Amino acid sequence: MEHFDLLVIGSGPAGRRAAVQGAKLGKSVMVIENRLRLGGVSVHTGTIPSKTLRETVLNLSGWRERGFYGLSYRVKKDIEGKDLGARLRMTLNHEIEVLEHQFARNGVRTFGGMARFLDTNRVCVTAHDGDETVFGFDHAVIAVGTTPYRPPHIPFNDHSVLDSDSLVSEPRVPRSLTVVGAGVIGIEYATIFSALDVPVTIIEPKETILDFIDREIVEEFTHELRQRGMTIRFGAKVEKVEVDEQGWAVSTLADGRRIRTDMLLYAAGRSGATEGLGLENCGIVPSDRGRLKVDPVTFQTNVRNIYAAGDVIGFPSLASTSMEQGRIAALHACGAPMPPAPQFFPYGIYAVPEISTVGLTEQEVRNQGIPYENGIARFRETSRGHIMGLESGMMKMIFSLETRKLLGVHIVGEGATELIHIGQAVLNLGGTLDYFVENAFNYPTLAEAYKIAALDAWNRMPHNVPVANIE
Ligand SMILES: Cc1cc2nc3c(=O)[nH]c(=O)nc-3n(C[C@H](O)[C@H](O)[C@H](O)COP(=O)(O)OP(=O)(O)OC[C@H]3O[C@@H](n4cnc5c(N)ncnc54)[C@H](O)[C@@H]3O)c2cc1C
Repeated sequence: MEHFDLLVIGSGPAGRRAAVQGAKLGKSVMVIENRLRLGGVSVHTGTIPSKTLRETVLNLSGWRERGFYGLSYRVKKDIEGKDLGARLRMTLNHEIEVLEHQFARNGVRTFGGMARFLDTNRVCVTAHDGDETVFGFDHAVIAVGTTPYRPPHIPFNDHSVLDSDSLVSEPRVPRSLTVVGAGVIGIEYATIFSALDVPVTIIEPKETILDFIDREIVEEFTHELRQRGMTIRFGAKVEKVEVDEQGWAVSTLADGRRIRTDMLLYAAGRSGATEGLGLENCGIVPSDRGRLKVDPVTFQTNVRNIYAAGDVIGFPSLASTSMEQGRIAALHACGAPMPPAPQFFPYGIYAVPEISTVGLTEQEVRNQGIPYENGIARFRETSRGHIMGLESGMMKMIFSLETRKLLGVHIVGEGATELIHIGQAVLNLGGTLDYFVENAFNYPTLAEAYKIAALDAWNRMPHNVPVANIE
């Protein structure tokens, strides 16, 4: 039986980072992956495919230029599934090559098959041909991610009724689309297809969406979606989905309304991929949605030499945070000093338009009783926004009245997921409003919105001292 210092199950962002970190600390590392190729959900069906699809749609549809050339402007007239698929395959192959090279460079071993714990120091791996191999380990990281939740009453056929995995396996442009579930994945795909002028209906049982995002930003966002003709039904529950004779999906809502569309994307959550992992053999109990509980600082499960990281431990379920969790788990497992965890992580929603946020929302600031002031900038107020023909986009910054410290940045609009990192840096370094007022920003840029929003807040801050160069 081969024995490893660190055994990682799953090669998605959490597993990949854990493995490379362990190898960099001189440990023997084995990664077990049950897909035919490395990369996890992130590379094969999640982050990379959805963002590639988004980029393809925005480029081919000429979306970013419509502010200038009008709503009927197109770069390519008839956009088909094969246009979307071609770029997906190229990006995916490139991503996997980079990952394989990274593992090879760092001496990380990989083995294909389904891992199952035999006890707290051994796993059995069933390869695709049925062969079984047992590996021993000192420490293990469970980074198995999630699979789409597929309730039995939904007639998935992977053509007209799909989940987010099947949507990208053979992408096609539907004539109309229903999206069930307005979580991040549902919202992203709904808005991406809407940018292709596909009529889209979103159905969400709750009365609100994206509850971890600042309410003002969500209101701005939903207003924009409605303006461009999307139908959003909050507080509506799907009772039944059927496929009719023409192969279209027919959803019946609890109040009797029916919605018939060429395609239905069911995006009502994901479950931890812990089934068949043999957790019962080592005394770890997953939740009913397959999620694992860990120590939030070390990422250890209740079994101290077995760690869990990434989507399998739940919120925020992002590739970005999964990587960091995997790295911290490996550092702890290998007895290396752990860096202090940053207080605030950025969140990005790659809808059309993008949303990104870091720090406290206005609701959180109020709940904590912190006296605060907001500053708002509209992208159309920036010269870069004029040049780009932007009609929408907004940044909101929140500052403490007492310390002038930045408390949160919330952005909706073009480039939000990149712009946020300026706010993230200032926030995590404990910076104040004065940083934005006193420093020069490249001109013309969208980042200038930081200065505009900071000055907007400054105008209302008490005991202001005169600031030079304010127009
Ligand atoms: C449509 C979609 C869009 C997304 N967009 C974004 C985004 O824009 N930004 C972002 O940050 N995040 C995004 N995410 C989330 C991101 O993909 C996940 O957070 C990330 O993939 C989680 O990484 P992970 O390492 O936990 O596991 P995963 O990436 O899920 O990988 C786990 C791997 O483990 C394998 N595995 C499972 N069980 C076993 C076993 N028993 N033995 C061996 N192997 C096993 C699985 O096959 C899989 O390959 C998106 C997700 C989806 C679905």
